[in-house]
Amino acid sequence: TLKSKNAVVTGSTSGIGLAIARALAKEGANVVINGLGDEAEIEKTRAAIESEFGVKAIYHPANMLESDEIADMVHQAERSLGTVDILVNNAGIQFVSPVEEFPVEKWDQIIAINLSSAFHAIRAAVPGMKARQWGRIINTASAHSLVASPFKAAYVAAKHGIAGLTKTVALEVATHGITVNCISPGYVWTPLVERQIPDTMKARNMTKEQVINEVLLEAQPTKQFVTVEQVAALAVFLCSDAASQISGANLSMDGGWTAK
Ligand code: NAD
Repeated sequence: TLKSKNAVVTGSTSGIGLAIARALAKEGANVVINGLGDEAEIEKTRAAIESEFGVKAIYHPANMLESDEIADMVHQAERSLGTVDILVNNAGIQFVSPVEEFPVEKWDQIIAINLSSAFHAIRAAVPGMKARQWGRIINTASAHSLVASPFKAAYVAAKHGIAGLTKTVALEVATHGITVNCISPGYVWTPLVERQIPDTMKARNMTKEQVINEVLLEAQPTKQFVTVEQVAALAVFLCSDAASQISGANLSMDGGWTAK
């Protein structure tokens, strides 16, 4: 059980982050949710977590492009909940384009949201975790932290970066009861994957069915999408005492993709 623990999950208004926030709340943790989206929808999501799981759920609108807003999210969480014991750096976006046409501002955004935001949140959360000698930092990486695919230069670079950040911070905080790991899913059926289908259709001149079967599931030997609940279950395990000696690891959940 994670009763009396407090968690911040970035990019948790949708997809994997929302599943992780709900799974942590189900174990009794209070959660700060974060992300973009329709205000009324987000409030529904937040209120549902409180009423279903009997925990406190707070929304913080920090934009992952803004270092000061990210630090404020962590400090606000410490003020309103008391501590930040669990930090899940999950927010991420994708953009698919040949490298020579890759928009410069998309490169900058992806590096900021998918990589730098984790640094800013970790930087703000580690002092409190060290003071209490307990912490769990989980970064949502990707199979693309280990291998590449064409047309995803910024995403693959950012995800390889988050794997390196994970290992570095794990070494720095190892004697303080804090573990730092990343989870590397293969293709998970979420809005992020759905949204990249049209661009991949264009980049590869394919139909939607071809993109799903020949590009996405082609990579995944099991020929099945990972579910958000499966990723969330691994995050919950990483927060348990049983996982206290797992640190600096990059845990794949990709149906065998990176075994190839
Ligand atoms: P998603 O689009 O469903 O969710 C992304 C979340 O990030 C949303 O809550 C969104 O609002 C938030 N976000 C985006 N830009 C933001 C910003 N500037 N500031 C604050 N929040 C912002 O996508 P998802 O598939 O759940 O992706 C979550 C993470 O999982 C990402 O890091 C992604 O790279 C990673 N991932 C996804 C897959 C997959 O197949 N879906 C596979 C491997 C890794």
